[in-house]
Amino acid sequence: MKVNVMNRSKFCAGLLCCLLASLFLQTVQAKEPADQSNRHVLIIGMDGTRPDALLKAKTPTFDRLIKEGAFTDDANILGTRYQKNDTISGPGWSSILTGVWADKHGVHDNSFKGKNYELFPHFFKRLKRQRPDAKTVSLVSWDPIHEHILSEADIAQVFPLPRSKQQIADLRVSGDKLNIDTRDGKWHHLLATRQKDTLKLYLDGKEIGSLSGVDLDYTLGGDFYFLGRDSRTGPTCFHGQLDDIRLWNRSLTDKQIAQAASGATPDRQGLVAEYRFEDAADSGSQVLDLPHNGGKNHGLQVPLTESLKQLPHADFTIEARFRTTDKGRNILFGNYNGKAGALNLELHEKNSVRIYVQPPDPRNTDALAREGERDKTIAETAVRILREEDPNAMFVYFHQTDATGHAIGFSPEVPEYITAIENIDSRVNSLLQAVQSRPNFKNEDWLTIVCTDHGGLKRSHSDGLNVPEIRRVFLIAHGPSVAPGKISQQAYLVDVTATALQHLLGEVDPKWQLDGKPVGLKATK
Ligand SMILES: [Zn+2]
Repeated sequence: MKVNVMNRSKFCAGLLCCLLASLFLQTVQAKEPADQSNRHVLIIGMDGTRPDALLKAKTPTFDRLIKEGAFTDDANILGTRYQKNDTISGPGWSSILTGVWADKHGVHDNSFKGKNYELFPHFFKRLKRQRPDAKTVSLVSWDPIHEHILSEADIAQVFPLPRSKQQIADLRVSGDKLNIDTRDGKWHHLLATRQKDTLKLYLDGKEIGSLSGVDLDYTLGGDFYFLGRDSRTGPTCFHGQLDDIRLWNRSLTDKQIAQAASGATPDRQGLVAEYRFEDAADSGSQVLDLPHNGGKNHGLQVPLTESLKQLPHADFTIEARFRTTDKGRNILFGNYNGKAGALNLELHEKNSVRIYVQPPDPRNTDALAREGERDKTIAETAVRILREEDPNAMFVYFHQTDATGHAIGFSPEVPEYITAIENIDSRVNSLLQAVQSRPNFKNEDWLTIVCTDHGGLKRSHSDGLNVPEIRRVFLIAHGPSVAPGKISQQAYLVDVTATALQHLLGEVDPKWQLDGKPVGLKATK
């Protein structure tokens, strides 16, 4: 055909034909898509990570992904069409994993009331509808993602926070469970043991209560140990008479406990301290007599020796003989002061008895370190799955950043927040190494996306509609299908799902009514 002899209408008709033909071809292609079984997506979510902090932190892995991939530090957690949800994790991860805003997925806060994942599901579900053989994996530590958002995954695991080594162990047996009135003015014997992870209390040689699952790997604090009180004076002081106070670095046997209660001294092996008051000022009494109301010199103050300090690290036994008619709280001995490792043996209120063991850090500030441990376990699990399984879509979630932000501050000026980002960077490195070490890696087409659900300001990120530090986030896309460089279009949370599905299925079906658009991919950039 010679174009120069065509009239205008013929030319237009020809062009229309070409367009229709190409549209038809596209439709045919969409209906019979090329083999996509080699397409894989790894989505790494790091909760509450500000882009300015990400860029400030020393993150060789993220630096490489940004350099080789597509990146924006100006993505937004709210769109322009709908902004009525709170700027927190429930709506945030819902938008990321469904590709729609909160009016569609229905989640406006962390109550998840109104969730509508039936109509707007996690993108795993859309993937499985088109590619039933695709394998999906979700590894998270924030339970609501698992419980509410995730509708189906072939491997789904929630990781609880590791138990604190800084837990208080408090065993109290109430007076109405005792057949004995411990305040009847007669001599009684109270003894507590720790054997492995169990504390037990014995009254007059008989076991009266136990507490299992205790983990007391810590040291007593302060310079002194107190008999007849703890580090406090005042109303908690013991009033009456004390005798035979002993502390052992082993757990006495039942037979030895009965011996001790009856007034005999069991095998002295493991005896760390013993107070029998044989040379008390009133030598006739041979007991510690504490009649007066808890003044400054109440009781006895003894040096806290190294072997006493180490007592809570392993099995121990502590005991005292006492005689009182005081119905209130009476501390037999201890060193409690509110902010150091402590070990108290007490008569408590309402005729109860108690052993109280406190870690050096009772406010539990090791929680952030445990967040890091948990992230590490998640990464190790992900690495194992990448080695042993064949995941097509994988979501791996890290939380130390958000936890640190809430505890100390969401800011590039907070060193702990920066460290949390750097920790996750090395976790992500292990994941990417595992991807590259897959035996069939050369024939696989992996898209890695790194994203977050919100930023933060000071120690919060709710009500962030007008707070740029909360609304502004980053987005990284990396892999052979990515067009490297700055993502020029305005990117949003909802784009993560659209980008993942575009890669995995070769299309984003308009019927899904996604609010997000693919970003950073070669065909879409
Ligand atoms: Zn948070």
